[in-house]
Amino acid sequence: MQDISQHLQQVLRRMEVACLQAARRPVSVQLLAVSKTMPADAVRAAYLAGQRDFGENYVQEALAKIAELADLPLVWHLIGPLQSNKTAIVAEHFHWVHSVDRLKIAQRLAVQRPAHLPPLNICLQINIDDEDSKSGCAIAELDDLVVAVLALPNIVLRGLMVIPKAGHHQAFAAVAELRQHLLATIPALEPSRFDTLSMGMSDDMEAAISAGSTMVRVGTAIFGKRQ
Ligand SMILES: *Cc1c(COP(=O)(O)O)cnc(C)c1O
Repeated sequence: MQDISQHLQQVLRRMEVACLQAARRPVSVQLLAVSKTMPADAVRAAYLAGQRDFGENYVQEALAKIAELADLPLVWHLIGPLQSNKTAIVAEHFHWVHSVDRLKIAQRLAVQRPAHLPPLNICLQINIDDEDSKSGCAIAELDDLVVAVLALPNIVLRGLMVIPKAGHHQAFAAVAELRQHLLATIPALEPSRFDTLSMGMSDDMEAAISAGSTMVRVGTAIFGKRQ
């Protein structure tokens, strides 16, 4: 657990150096600690070292940790694929969903978000490599999806998320350009709300930050290798 605190500081330092090299302000990039497969104690250790935002991939696993850590003011992000039969429970327990890739999921989250909670923050996941097997919205369908999502209640469209193929660093710049394109062509999008580029992981956070990432999702470099 001592390691978690040290690793967290190392990751924050890497982010800071990457920002300085890209002539960006370090406060413009947030760290999302990806705690999938890690026990609640590891999340607690990261919290005690100053981390607030945590990312999970599997809904059932996340719910157990959210319940166990309910005494802490944590911000929970779903970053893994979301099936429609899980949207209600996600709308009730998460603050962010990064992996929205079709209108049906966004509609269900909007309807199912409890009225007493603030709007759910969502990002649209982009299928940048156009692989059939991967989740994510095709670029050709993105404009229509954005317009439709903007009309939904109880959710706020915060930005775009991408998981490129290993080594495909140009994907980060392509997604940053997509955000600019959307802002330029869809007047209802406000830059101050549509402000998130969820890009970069343990191995490629520097490339993502240099392309404009505002949120890096880092697991291994903080918590160690997963089983
Ligand atoms: C697991 C995962 C991460 C973190 O990956 P690391 O290489 O461990 O940093 C980030 N994003 C998503 C969507 C993931 O599934």
